[in-house]
Amino acid sequence: MWDLVVVGGGPAGASAALGALAVDPSLSVLVVDRREFPRDKACGDGIAPHVFDLLGEVGVSGIVDDWTPVRRFALTRGDVGVDREMARPNWVVPRTVFDQRLVEAAQAAGAELIRRRVRGLEIQPRFVTVDGDLEARFVVGADGAYSVVRRDLGLAAGPVALAVRGYAPTPAGRAASQVIAYGPGRQPSYAWSFDRGDGWSNVGYGEQLTGTRPTRAELMEHLEALLPGATDGGKSWWGHHLPLSSWSWRPQAGPVMLAGDAAGLINPMTGEGIYYAVATGLLAGRAVAEALSKNSADAGSSYRHQVTRLLGRHLRHTALTAQLSRSGRVLNAGIRAAAADQRIFDDLVELGLADGLITPRLLRALVKAPRPEQV
Ligand SMILES: Cc1cc2nc3c(=O)[nH]c(=O)nc-3n(C[C@H](O)[C@H](O)[C@H](O)COP(=O)(O)OP(=O)(O)OC[C@H]3O[C@@H](n4cnc5c(N)ncnc54)[C@H](O)[C@@H]3O)c2cc1C
Repeated sequence: MWDLVVVGGGPAGASAALGALAVDPSLSVLVVDRREFPRDKACGDGIAPHVFDLLGEVGVSGIVDDWTPVRRFALTRGDVGVDREMARPNWVVPRTVFDQRLVEAAQAAGAELIRRRVRGLEIQPRFVTVDGDLEARFVVGADGAYSVVRRDLGLAAGPVALAVRGYAPTPAGRAASQVIAYGPGRQPSYAWSFDRGDGWSNVGYGEQLTGTRPTRAELMEHLEALLPGATDGGKSWWGHHLPLSSWSWRPQAGPVMLAGDAAGLINPMTGEGIYYAVATGLLAGRAVAEALSKNSADAGSSYRHQVTRLLGRHLRHTALTAQLSRSGRVLNAGIRAAAADQRIFDDLVELGLADGLITPRLLRALVKAPRPEQV
């Protein structure tokens, strides 16, 4: 009988193990992943500094110190654009590297990692059975966008985007920068080029699915149209779904919790999901350790309370921003305001990459958006 079985060894799963073991290093924690590590994951590889603040709380530090931080962030939409230095640098680190180091940190803290494709779970009165043979007091479902744990909890998937990413040599004009170019039509739709700092960039294009599913060729065409030259010399192309966050999220009570993409937590405006994955993974792990210390079978209620405190308002503000930006007019106004005022730019970065809110000055800038006939 494991104290905790974590399904999925990505950022959310490794963080769940770290969160539990930081509270009580004597817990038995099993991380189960269908893939052999190190493994790649389709992603933009952009990692906000807040991720490292959180990891520092559980004793994980210096894991990307050999990578070059990125200081500039550029947002464009047509001929509207902003290109500024961020208050704090970001990192662009391939997931093959980042996830491996994170899962190693979880192992160093005492977690066991095995390879297995989990097929399902059953909640019993005092424990949970995974695949009929693994027994655990608690389970964290951190198994990503196509989560079987979410399916077995009977929870419907929310809105999703589809994106393709690849690696391409960094052109001089996009070096040392993270660039997001929003599409001309319905939002969210955007291309990105994130310089890794080693001569290569992570490049890609994604859009929210609203019925028809674009082909890979169409996604690549949009990428090239928004960021000309971005696909030149590109390799390792990989398409993947992004489960987007929406207005609210209320984890359920009990012994099974969802974290990261399994919980549908990706910022619809920027595609950011690693911060949410690490934040919710840590909180789920801590909730498990707390419940075990009280001999309770319910970690979900405490988890719900903690994630609501951390992300409740932020998720509502992000959903509102995404809603307001649908027309593109408000999005343009936000970009123009960020170009005019460093503080509004900083507000947008916090909202898009971590847990920021719509500040009064940002709201004023957004509602002042000119009507179409004034543009
Ligand atoms: C194209 C693209 C670009 C993105 N760009 C960014 C970005 O630049 N910055 C950012 O912060 N976020 C980005 N995201 C989002 C980010 O990739 C995710 O939010 C993040 O990976 C979530 O981490 P996770 O641990 O929840 O899930 P994952 O990283 O997907 O990990 C889930 C793990 O579960 C395992 N698994 C799945 N099913 C099973 C099973 N049945 N049994 C056992 N194991 C299983 C998988 O092998 C995997 O290792 C992007 C996403 C996409 C698709």
